[in-house]
Amino acid sequence: MTLSDMTASPDPQSLAPLWLKKREEKRLRAGHLWIYSNEVDTARSPLSDLTAGQLVQVRASNGQSLGTAYANPHSLICARLLCRDDIRRPNRAFFLDRLQTALSLRERFYSSPYYRLVYGESDGLPGLVVDRYGDYLVVQLTTAGSEHLKEPILEALGQLLEPRGMVLRNDSPLRQMEGLDSYVETIGSVPDEIEVLEGNNRFLITPRTGQKTGWFFDQAATRSRLAPYVRNATVLDMFSYVGAWGIAAKRHGATEVTCVDSSKTAISQLETNANANGLSIETQVGNAFDVLKQHRQERRLFDVVILDPPAFIKRRKDLKAGMEAYRRLNQHALQVIKPGGFLWTGSCSYHMATEELLSLVQAAARHVDRSLQLIEQGGQAPDHPIHPAIRETAYLKMFAFRVLRA
Ligand code: SAH
Repeated sequence: MTLSDMTASPDPQSLAPLWLKKREEKRLRAGHLWIYSNEVDTARSPLSDLTAGQLVQVRASNGQSLGTAYANPHSLICARLLCRDDIRRPNRAFFLDRLQTALSLRERFYSSPYYRLVYGESDGLPGLVVDRYGDYLVVQLTTAGSEHLKEPILEALGQLLEPRGMVLRNDSPLRQMEGLDSYVETIGSVPDEIEVLEGNNRFLITPRTGQKTGWFFDQAATRSRLAPYVRNATVLDMFSYVGAWGIAAKRHGATEVTCVDSSKTAISQLETNANANGLSIETQVGNAFDVLKQHRQERRLFDVVILDPPAFIKRRKDLKAGMEAYRRLNQHALQVIKPGGFLWTGSCSYHMATEELLSLVQAAARHVDRSLQLIEQGGQAPDHPIHPAIRETAYLKMFAFRVLRA
């Protein structure tokens, strides 16, 4: 038994109660894990009595226990449920059990250890993201509760996987909403560049400085479908980051691939990756919207355009402006695709529903006199499982369209 096993296992009686108002237990009973501050009976359990990250026992208004949660009185989501009883404590053994369950899913679907090992709430581990890059882990603690449980979480990860090193990418903007500071920490030894294996390609990513946790594993399953579309084709990969789509396209027999990203650092890493795979890729640092317009003016057309942009809709209030940005982007892309070519287009904004993206691309196509055939649809890879009760865990959609003259 370690120190954290003992310190994180107080007497059940010692957990502060978090009383819900009448009928506010419905969402939790339906499977969700979040409690919003306006659902708390603050007369019975004032939020101001709690500290950020504190463990609480959640109670329905009739007194029934709903489980153990961690709280954050400074956040709109003021508590997240860890387990549905008030006996277990979130100690090393608890996390080890949850991590083993998460690992067994990934081991079933992936033949090599490169994947998102933990996808937060969907893996019963709210506020925790872990990406696995062979012998290295990149960990993100996004809530005060998970930050508070850092020690048993890291101990359990260490015990389960014995990684050579871990990078804590605790610089996610989500932490601001929880009142947490931003920091990057290395535990053990982790080189500046580490390897990712996807398909038959090897990529180098920079775990301490790369975007988010370094690699976008969520599209891996969809990317594996690319081959028939790109064989003998000219391909334009917008928002390329370090080349996941573009390099895969070249490997699958594309004649020419152009990758565009606004980040100079991403493009330079992409060039390293193309060389490492012995593939030649044309690169351009630029704004996707401008680059597409420029190609159109120069009448440069492609057989395939890939649009895998960052989330344009980060908050619900950005919905309208964000949808308009997606529409314009897709319209520009459709104008540089040869008749009979393909558009791969997607969105990782969970505020926009799949059907909304579909109709927005269709509207863009009508606007520029094209007709579309939807060939296939992709979504989150199995290492990003969706929690059916937590809509927020389903965010990624990707479509492959054939583009024809109307
Ligand atoms: N498609 C990538 C992930 C894209 S992440 C993959 O699967 O690995 C989003 C990328 O878009 C980032 O690399 C970011 O630098 C880039 N980006 C953001 N805004 C952009 C813009 N307006 N034009 C071009 N690139 C942009």
